[in-house]
Amino acid sequence: MKLKVRWRSGRGAAPELSPVELLTPETSSLYRLVQAAQGTPYYQQEPQADLIQSPLALASGLSELPKIELVRVLAGLRDFRSPTAGANPQRFERPLGVRGAVAVLDPYFQPEPGVFVFEPAFSRELAVCRAETLAGHAVTLRNFAHWTLSGHVSLPNVRRAIVAFSSLEGGLLTDSDRDLFWNAFQVPVYEQFLGLNSELLGSECAAHAGLHLKTDHALFEMDPAGGDSELVITSLRGLDFPVFRLATGLTGHIDDCPCSCGQTSPRIRSLAPLHIHRIGAASYAATPAR
Ligand SMILES: [Zn+2]
Repeated sequence: MKLKVRWRSGRGAAPELSPVELLTPETSSLYRLVQAAQGTPYYQQEPQADLIQSPLALASGLSELPKIELVRVLAGLRDFRSPTAGANPQRFERPLGVRGAVAVLDPYFQPEPGVFVFEPAFSRELAVCRAETLAGHAVTLRNFAHWTLSGHVSLPNVRRAIVAFSSLEGGLLTDSDRDLFWNAFQVPVYEQFLGLNSELLGSECAAHAGLHLKTDHALFEMDPAGGDSELVITSLRGLDFPVFRLATGLTGHIDDCPCSCGQTSPRIRSLAPLHIHRIGAASYAATPAR
């Protein structure tokens, strides 16, 4: 894969893609993203239309595009909706080492052998499903955990893993979420961080030491503008709601060291909302020295 993750230490560090690289099959994802964006109301406006006129122009000038705040995107999501939205279901990716059938409580995913897809609600079909792993957005799994603990729901086949989706819209997984899921299901919990199209952006492994970034799914930047570095994402799999340089409002630090799980992809650790991080830093600074 020649689209590499770029950790920008300052403005103006453009992705270093050559025209030859752009012609490779691996980089066709950028071409598809540009095509999808060109059909959206937001990118049909000036000056955005000029900025994304071609993958070639974009590759040399991606960092010149202004960041778009997540709140702006969520407040006007229809502006970013591609005419082909809905035609790009996501494939569920198992955490490393998690085998067996999986029930995914998100209809945005594509059913396939060993992956059963359900609405985010309890159903008889889910109850009799042979899936040993339950996957869903954290908000959905919280409900299932409470129902399980209260005895209203029983999923006895779920004895391998819980895969909890955190997301740009739904927020991050908390320690209390992990405790709740463990108490309800008594199986390991793996976090998967999803983008606006339910595309996988980062995945936790059995080492539970940050999220392995899916560098073939997105271009990641750590933008230092404004103090703490902000995670900025251009999702190459976000064809339903294409956004270039989405400012996530999240911060964290990148760990390039090989993980004990054997994967060598970079991990983002201590992922947290920027404002909480700043409030925490301010509180710390305001504490008198003893
Ligand atoms: Zn790992």
